[in-house]
Amino acid sequence: MPISRRDFLKYCSAAAAALGLSGTDLLRLEQVLADPTAPTVLWLHGSSCSGCSVSFLNYIAASDPTDPGDILLSHINLAYHPVLMAPAGLPAYQAAEAAYAQGNYVLVVEGAVATQYSGRCCWPWANSTGEEETFLAVVTRYVSKAAQVVCAGSCSAFGGIPAAGSNPTLAKSVQAVTGKATLNIPGCPCHPNWLVWALVQILLGKSISKDSFGRPTALFGSKVHDKCPRKGKPKDATLGGSGCLRDLGCRGPDTEANCPLLKWNNAQSWCIEANAPCYGCTEPGFPGSTPFYKFPAG
Ligand code: SF4
Ligand code: SF4
Repeated sequence: MPISRRDFLKYCSAAAAALGLSGTDLLRLEQVLADPTAPTVLWLHGSSCSGCSVSFLNYIAASDPTDPGDILLSHINLAYHPVLMAPAGLPAYQAAEAAYAQGNYVLVVEGAVATQYSGRCCWPWANSTGEEETFLAVVTRYVSKAAQVVCAGSCSAFGGIPAAGSNPTLAKSVQAVTGKATLNIPGCPCHPNWLVWALVQILLGKSISKDSFGRPTALFGSKVHDKCPRKGKPKDATLGGSGCLRDLGCRGPDTEANCPLLKWNNAQSWCIEANAPCYGCTEPGFPGSTPFYKFPAG
């Protein structure tokens, strides 16, 4: 791992408050990054807001990581992550290239792939000769040597927000661009536990049952509506009530995800508990053309 212990600790000390990392979390992360025998994970960012990374870091910040988190943090060898790693620029690029040269890594992709203008709408890095590489070229190259490709969030899985509306950058999913079947962990952002779960399954060599959209059925096999505590309540006509939000745009009946059971922010709450409709963020059509607070079209 090319991140030195000193660099890493320096970074963590500076970022710990912002990331909400405890001392225990930092030690775990240090072990993760220092383990040379662990399976390698490369995490690339394309057209995205980095929200899925933030969501993932929130998981690490939990005071008592659950068993899957422990497994992940004890076994993952994160070779490249542009937000988390201390090096930037050429050293960061070289870290990614070293892992790429070895191949057989788990590739996590966050963000859609911009394909318009030969991909020149998204540049993740400059190579060792100072030449910019498009994300389109990088993700195509890195997918070719990956043992597994995991799409973190709806942007890499389906296009998501960057592909919305007129889609001026012609943003597409990783699978649409590369032709390689991906394990899709959608969401805007994806829930950290979903991503941890997927990585743990891969690291343990377990087979993962997927639906027709490449999502694990273990996570996306039931509708939000099915377990919603407001199911059966009268439909609210205005925001701010405590009834069913269907007429106010809730897409829960059309959305596969276990949010009512899992909840968010370390199980504190979730969209509908916070009195917002489900926006269907795990569905391939997200965000769609219907305003969020209107009865869903179609
Ligand atoms: S609020 Fe949404 S998910 Fe909950 S019962 Fe109503 S339509 Fe279903
Ligand atoms: S409740 Fe709906 S919008 Fe909220 S996170 Fe879950 S799938 Fe996404």
